[in-house]
Amino acid sequence: MMQTPLTMTQMIERAEKYFPKKQVVSRTASGIHRFTYKQVAERTRRLANSLSKLGVTKGEKVGTLAWNHHRHLEAYFAVPCMGAVLHTINIRLSPQHISYIINHAEDKVLLVDSDILPLLESCAAELKSVKAFIIMTDEKELPETKLSPVYHYEKLLEEANPEYNYPTDLNENDPAGMCYTSATTGNPKGVVYSHRAIFLHSMALGLADSAAISEKDIALTVVPMFHANAWGMPFAGVWFGTTLVLPGPYFTPKLLAELIEQEKVTITSGVPTIWLGLLKELDEGSYDLSSLRGILCGGSAAPKGMIKAFEQKYNVPFMHAYGMTETSPLALFSTLKSYQEELNYEDRLELRAKQGTIVPGLEMKVLGKDGEVSWDGKEMGELCLRGPWIASEYYKDERTKDAFHDGWLHTGDVVTIDEEGFVKIVDRTKDLIKSGGEWISSVDLENALMAHESVFEAAVVAIPHEKWQERPLACVVLKDAFKGKTTKEELLEFLTPQFAKWWIPDEILFLEEIPKTSVGKFLKMALRDQVQKEVSR
Ligand code: ADP
Repeated sequence: MMQTPLTMTQMIERAEKYFPKKQVVSRTASGIHRFTYKQVAERTRRLANSLSKLGVTKGEKVGTLAWNHHRHLEAYFAVPCMGAVLHTINIRLSPQHISYIINHAEDKVLLVDSDILPLLESCAAELKSVKAFIIMTDEKELPETKLSPVYHYEKLLEEANPEYNYPTDLNENDPAGMCYTSATTGNPKGVVYSHRAIFLHSMALGLADSAAISEKDIALTVVPMFHANAWGMPFAGVWFGTTLVLPGPYFTPKLLAELIEQEKVTITSGVPTIWLGLLKELDEGSYDLSSLRGILCGGSAAPKGMIKAFEQKYNVPFMHAYGMTETSPLALFSTLKSYQEELNYEDRLELRAKQGTIVPGLEMKVLGKDGEVSWDGKEMGELCLRGPWIASEYYKDERTKDAFHDGWLHTGDVVTIDEEGFVKIVDRTKDLIKSGGEWISSVDLENALMAHESVFEAAVVAIPHEKWQERPLACVVLKDAFKGKTTKEELLEFLTPQFAKWWIPDEILFLEEIPKTSVGKFLKMALRDQVQKEVSR
């Protein structure tokens, strides 16, 4: 067989050649913009020319600090296709971590949204490698800034040559992109994606038994483009000629519901907290979401109660997937087998709330104390993954040896696997609760609580206990209508028939809000500190 390189240039070239009329719908601060793939491809070449002119060469890093919009999408292709490396920077990290990762990656040029300028300015003095800043703005004039030298994205594109020949000597193993993922302690850790990894991962997103992204879809990417490549949706979408809808800097539940209705979105992707917010909005307002064929949910466990509410009340099907920054990210997808479709709804839901089976192309094993665990849905072990879109190291980082050994990525996620090969995340190693020598899953308790009609969000953490080492404590945010009404006793009573006695939380605290990470997951570390103070009061 031929050995043609699996590089990203063919993705954007295919969109231009075969889907020139298909659109990218982009909402920026100035409103909704529509670009055809013909226009996007030309603008992408202009950007590549501009970056070359600014001195970016093969292998150099170009950073982005930007929301989900068409300019960011253009950078997603211009940078890797010219042979440079797209470094998407998580703008919700602290300024210290942002300057650390820009310096660590040695970004040469930074593309930044105007509303993110103050953040970048606050760390500009620390930056060592950056030679130019490009502001991605709709305004004719550049906003005032202390950064220097600065360029105006649209002016650069206007002045640039629309012709650009992407290099034909790109190697599929060349770096194309990079992302940093937050660490429990210390600085974020960098993951570098190759062209080949992005190519194969995009194909996996198109498989019928995974997200089945296709030309027929209108895909709204709510996952930020600065987090794990927006789960790869922009790459797959462009390649397949999908209509992409990019929601820009504002994505309140109301705006998302309106966008889904107006653009007739067929598939959308995001973490559970986004969908819990949307659910609340649907309960309050009136929207037509009948165009949706699925909500792709991952990043944290999708609570059963939430899936059920979307499906039964609003007729919107859910898709549950699992991944990490280190896995590009798609690794597990919870699709039922044909014979499982015959089960009743509750049993199907039970299975679909698991993280699912390994997607074709990857391999997995679950390692317990004495080797691989049995497939009984009970024995717990650490999920280990390998395959062509799984990272093999952290970029220039000694912590590589903690997670990558024996040719496998050791994910730090504690799981069980059942007879059908369905993986269920019990917890992240660091979030498991150890009570009297036995493990309690915070995820299971949270999901059970979130199935109660009065509960908006619930997070369970361990608190130290003299006798039992640790005990679970639940933090609950009630829906507005139930505030001051639902009691602790009522919730404990609700949990009692569902779990062994020793699993039942010792305490339930009602909070106004649960602290979240930069990507909207429960921030257990901060929550533990917070409740510690409350409990010892
Ligand atoms: P961060 O560490 O900043 O959260 P990632 O987005 O890479 O960065 O997080 C990956 C982790 O998210 C996984 O290791 C796992 O713990 C969790 N995760 C991802 N998808 C799911 C899911 N469907 N269910 C439960 N946990 C999930």
